[in-house]
Amino acid sequence: MEYEIDFLPVGDASSSGDAICLRYSSDQGVTWHVGVIDGGTQASGEALCKHIQTHYGTETVDFLICTHPDQDHASGLSNVMEQLTVKKLLMHCPWDYVDYFFDSVNDGRVTKESLRKKLIEGHPYAYKIYEHAIKNGIPIYHPFSDNENNHDIPHLNIVGPSGDFYLNQLINFRSITDITEDSLENENLFKSFAEAARKAINWISETWDEEKLVDPADDATSSENNSSVISLFNFNGKKILFTADAGVLALSKAADQIETLGYALQDFSFVQVPHHGSKRNIGPTILDRIIGKPKLTGSTETFIALISAAKEGEPKHPNKRVVNAFKRRGGNVIATQGITICHYTSGTPDRGWAPIEPLPFYTDVEDD
Ligand SMILES: [Zn+2]
Repeated sequence: MEYEIDFLPVGDASSSGDAICLRYSSDQGVTWHVGVIDGGTQASGEALCKHIQTHYGTETVDFLICTHPDQDHASGLSNVMEQLTVKKLLMHCPWDYVDYFFDSVNDGRVTKESLRKKLIEGHPYAYKIYEHAIKNGIPIYHPFSDNENNHDIPHLNIVGPSGDFYLNQLINFRSITDITEDSLENENLFKSFAEAARKAINWISETWDEEKLVDPADDATSSENNSSVISLFNFNGKKILFTADAGVLALSKAADQIETLGYALQDFSFVQVPHHGSKRNIGPTILDRIIGKPKLTGSTETFIALISAAKEGEPKHPNKRVVNAFKRRGGNVIATQGITICHYTSGTPDRGWAPIEPLPFYTDVEDD
């Protein structure tokens, strides 16, 4: 099978995002399946369209996956929807699920309609894609692991979240728990925090044999992140795992589902490092399970670990303990770092691009 995966750089400063496209063929390139997983910002959405036209030579996207409604993943997807021909849309539509969770949030002060409205207003980017699909008759599939792949996209398994797990995350979404975010104010606040963090950061040493990464608390990442679509592609035995911004809870459920489907864990060719390399989303226990236990120093690398992180995402994205944890377990770790297109291929025409320098093993890591 021929396939190629491209992670486009997102964000010109400290905010990370995902903009991913891929194509694959099981008939020596006679027909291709073209997919997009998240679109990053408006600028990266534009870049995705150009990339697909230039490098995949098509105006058609067979399937588009919106992993979760956060702006850094959903915003650029409207460019793709408007500029290219999208045949199938896979996304969660929380505003349509109110009937399923109303009883667990009803405290007498909310109505179904007010919840629906909050979910629409709280996720304008995702709702824009949804509206576009409805208007243009593009079928929407709800990407739940218990929907038995009714999307009918070859080689793709949705391994998370299950419907139940999703609803449990949804009831804690910021848009309906009244934790409002003034985006501009927050962004500025975040920037000064990030700057302060960069200056104040303390470094400690880490060795190959002494892992400093610890298992994060269950609520270390947001419910929105834990609601992310996790997808597994099986290209004739080569397994590719896309994790979006999923945290430990979501990833361990996905691991269960992968095993239920009859696939072995610890045997991936390519794994997306979740949430732009944040240490809030993974820890040693889940990594030991999904990608395997640490290997002896100097062992051969067995898979690609890809991090989609902003240029000035440090110190949060990617976290150096996280980079080291993947390297220790056999990962060849590469990162977009906001500037590089990460291209991973098997059997597709050579673009003549220079190989990407993998991230090193860091002997100094962040001290918290
Ligand atoms: Zn994200």
